[in-house]
Amino acid sequence: MTDDPTARPGESLLILGAGAVGCTSALAFARRGFKVTVIDRTGPGSGASYGNAGGIVPSASPLAQPGLPWQVPGMLVDPTGPLSIHPAELIKSLPWFLRFVMECSASRAEANSKALYALSGSAAPAWKDLIRGTPAETLLRDVGWLKVYSSEDGFKNHAPERDFLRRRGAPVEILSQDEVRQLEPNLAPIFVRGMLQPDGLFAVNPQRLVEAVATEAMAQGAKFLRETIEDLTVDPDGRITVKTNVTQHKPDRVMICAGAFSKRFAQALGAAPLLVAERGYHAMFDRPEKCTTRPAFWVENSMVLCPMEQGVRLTTQSEFNGLTAGPSYRRLNRLIPKAMEMMPQLNSTVRDRWMGHRPATPDSLPVLGVAPATPRGFFNFGHNHLGLTLSAISAQVAVDLWTQAGLSENIPISAYRPLR
Ligand SMILES: Cc1cc2nc3c(=O)[nH]c(=O)nc-3n(C[C@H](O)[C@H](O)[C@H](O)COP(=O)(O)OP(=O)(O)OC[C@H]3O[C@@H](n4cnc5c(N)ncnc54)[C@H](O)[C@@H]3O)c2cc1C
Repeated sequence: MTDDPTARPGESLLILGAGAVGCTSALAFARRGFKVTVIDRTGPGSGASYGNAGGIVPSASPLAQPGLPWQVPGMLVDPTGPLSIHPAELIKSLPWFLRFVMECSASRAEANSKALYALSGSAAPAWKDLIRGTPAETLLRDVGWLKVYSSEDGFKNHAPERDFLRRRGAPVEILSQDEVRQLEPNLAPIFVRGMLQPDGLFAVNPQRLVEAVATEAMAQGAKFLRETIEDLTVDPDGRITVKTNVTQHKPDRVMICAGAFSKRFAQALGAAPLLVAERGYHAMFDRPEKCTTRPAFWVENSMVLCPMEQGVRLTTQSEFNGLTAGPSYRRLNRLIPKAMEMMPQLNSTVRDRWMGHRPATPDSLPVLGVAPATPRGFFNFGHNHLGLTLSAISAQVAVDLWTQAGLSENIPISAYRPLR
């Protein structure tokens, strides 16, 4: 094969990473007739895709927004606040933080909102298409995505998010106190307002969902290998060699889907993306008899309480402290009383605590596109707070783009380009 920019059915494709993004891509490419192999050092859905809130949420709000830089100092000193930045990480990732501040201008935020919604607005249908007729369907619930506000001030302060959604034409229902009660009678009656995005989906067990997608990909011929990727090199003919702790792979094509760990692999393929690990946490509780039916995001505390199939999950927090530091459960522990406030029938014993690395870009947009160094490489990572949401639509875009099948004109692909 020459250095053909068009990926063609029948070629071998090596996918690096078996999270939500890698596994949905594996299924989409296997269905298109590629010989797919997925490498991961652990099993499918064990990274950030393991412990998230399960929301498949049409979002139009990039994290970087006008006014945010002025709010950051207040967030940092609040011990239960949503944000912490380790000083060493601030220095190490200074270019990322500077770019984040630039993305806070009104014009950049609006452009990022459009590009984000172009993908996330189609996320739920893409998921349904991908898993239609497979056992994975039983893990998705059509219950929407609920945000609740415990004060009128909180509701007013978060108007920009609703404005972004409205400008994109996203369906949004504003709920009164009574309507929140009717929708979720097992939430404490402390919420004065709610916002429901009726087209959101809920994965009741994100890891099982990713595993089910991997199983379906295997049924379509994909192979999964448990190896640790050590290095990537590009040969003079553009072919990529992937060295692992076990062997060397020389496939026709390579796709990088290693989430927050993708940066050094992307560098080997000609791009130095601004990508950092934005760590998030969860705590698991036993499921009370009277439970909610959908995730509820308590806006004032930036925390989500999710009725997973295996228990109630509290997810929270943005913590910038790199890829290798161990977890710090201090802030998570401080939010546990808030979980009891939200759902008083919850047993306060925490069964399990977890930390995961969100792959964060300064503009909240994923990195999707052909590798600069060789058309045999493709980037599909950097899905921020929405990797579960965006994985199926990203897989669809990747297939259309790489096989040159023709992209939907609604997808502003240059917004996700690797060199930006
Ligand atoms: C607390 C929390 C709540 C969240 N809630 C939501 C939500 O409700 N909805 C939503 O859409 N998103 C949510 N997210 C974000 C979402 O979980 C991530 O964006 C998503 O999981 C990223 O998927 P991924 O496949 O890119 O990465 P990962 O799931 O992290 O997968 C990357 C894989 O690469 C493998 N890997 C890395 N390096 C190597 C190596 N050297 N060798 C071999 N394998 C390697 C890892 O083992 C891992 O399996 C949340 C995240 C957190 C932390």
